[in-house]
Amino acid sequence: MDQTRKLNDGHTIPSIGFGTYKLRGEDGIVSIMSALEAGYRLLDTALNYENEREVGEAIRRSGIPREEIFVTTKLPGRHHGYDEALVSFEESRVNLGLDYVDLYLIHWPLPRIDKYVQTFTAMLTLRDDGRARSVGVSNFTEGHLNRLIAETGVTPAVNQIELHPRFPQGHMREYHERHGILTQSWSPLARGTDVGDEQVVTAIAEAHGVTPTQVVLRWHLQLAAVPIPKSASPERQRENLDVFGFELSHAEIASISSLESGRLWDGDPETNEEF
Ligand code: NAP
Repeated sequence: MDQTRKLNDGHTIPSIGFGTYKLRGEDGIVSIMSALEAGYRLLDTALNYENEREVGEAIRRSGIPREEIFVTTKLPGRHHGYDEALVSFEESRVNLGLDYVDLYLIHWPLPRIDKYVQTFTAMLTLRDDGRARSVGVSNFTEGHLNRLIAETGVTPAVNQIELHPRFPQGHMREYHERHGILTQSWSPLARGTDVGDEQVVTAIAEAHGVTPTQVVLRWHLQLAAVPIPKSASPERQRENLDVFGFELSHAEIASISSLESGRLWDGDPETNEEF
């Protein structure tokens, strides 16, 4: 299993990343620095997480060269539109204190306001002038992606979606694979709920001599999805990154996927107003 994956635009992305939602203030900076020290090289933030400053500060204090860290941020719903997106990007970039971001995502499609095509067109401008190395989307359905690709002629590099054993997203993963879109998994641990307590997962963990959380993260990697687990604890951060030393069988992957019971997010993806 490689430690990095290739995007459809030729750039490289780490195969596992660090989610930063809710990591704020000095404690947040310390947690993000400890994640970098543990070895994470992908940091996932968003304007709406109100912690881009903390992410930038942790990078600077870590002393790790900027080019070794892959930084993702996201455009919020209130900033959809061509001009608005260019202004919003600049706000994020200044918050981060960086010259460029590695991946810029549309956080939610917001089809009700129907501006995601213009928004993505602005992202292509940012990509073309080098301020965003790669551009993509989040929480897009097949219908949204079909339209975006048809109207811009560009396939987003990434679609970041809710994905965990309770919601394995077989259909979207298959669609992404057909179109060369990398799947990123948000809430890969189902937000720390009870997936790790499932007998299916604990038995597989025991068989491999690893923890249930490591089994779940390895399941993501073998589904070719890039998980971005969040943890405030240095010990759990290290545990979550230590998933390259064992391999799940096809049968084990299938039994974990059979835990499907539904998504955590309770909005309607076709009409969502989130963010
Ligand atoms: P998550 O990563 O699935 O779960 C985080 C929870 O699991 C925390 O409560 C954490 O607690 C716990 N945890 C982590 N490692 C553990 C371990 N080894 N053992 C036991 N518990 C553990 O949930 P998430 O934060 O919702 O999702 C991850 C990232 O995805 C976010 O931070 C954000 O960057 C991104 N995201 C994106 C979207 C989107 O719309 N694009 C939506 C949601 C999230 P401790 O901190 O105490 O360890």
